[in-house]
Amino acid sequence: MFLSFHGHLRNLLRRGYQNQQKIEHALNRRASIKDIIESMGVPHTEIGRLIINDQEVSFLHIPNNNTSVEIFPLSGPDDFLTATSLRPEPLPELIFALDMNVGKLVKLLRMAGIDTFYTNPISELELLKVGVEENRIVLSRNKDLLKRKALTFGYLVKNFSPEKQFQEIIHFFGLTRNLQPFTRCMACNGLLKKVDKQKIIAELEPLTKIHYHCFQQCSDCTKLYWSGSHKDKMVDIIKRCFPDQDFSVECKKH
Ligand SMILES: [Zn+2]
Repeated sequence: MFLSFHGHLRNLLRRGYQNQQKIEHALNRRASIKDIIESMGVPHTEIGRLIINDQEVSFLHIPNNNTSVEIFPLSGPDDFLTATSLRPEPLPELIFALDMNVGKLVKLLRMAGIDTFYTNPISELELLKVGVEENRIVLSRNKDLLKRKALTFGYLVKNFSPEKQFQEIIHFFGLTRNLQPFTRCMACNGLLKKVDKQKIIAELEPLTKIHYHCFQQCSDCTKLYWSGSHKDKMVDIIKRCFPDQDFSVECKKH
């Protein structure tokens, strides 16, 4: 059979395959197209479409030695939110579960208001279970994890630095307009709500009591948030990553 990989999928192929436009592969056993592609190094979660004779096929397709398949990468959020030949049951929303190898993303995504599961340590099996049971997209830099059969929705993070990874995820999943900075707890992913200063005044340090008047509290873990150098640093990161966006931050320093 013949396989043509498109876009960044070629970078994921095992050495020896990477420089070939069209890979010739002799079949010596009955195998699904998914298993053949993954044996060449590309996780199934990275694939957006499989085309044979101008027709889209599913991962279960069994090719023969005359089959010629075109393999295209994921193209964006529609691959997750609409039914496709590869993933007939789409996700209701774009929410995430992070692998430990992209753990530094957690603060940035939660800071931007994006629903993100993360715990460390966590076993591969537990992470997959969270992804599958909670309909979350598993973000990882581990190709082998993303080849796991149980997983339908995953995404291989390409960049190394957390800020670049943050930009990559926001742009790829088309989330730029959905950013709601400082609406979610960076510690536990819970939603933040405004809280009256008088109600929590006993918990504040003396200087915080004097200088800050606008507070938010996590509805899950009760952690308190207020403007200050930490929050200003976070606003700078968001502005640096998305210079064209106008983010109004509700609680300004008084
Ligand atoms: Zn919390």
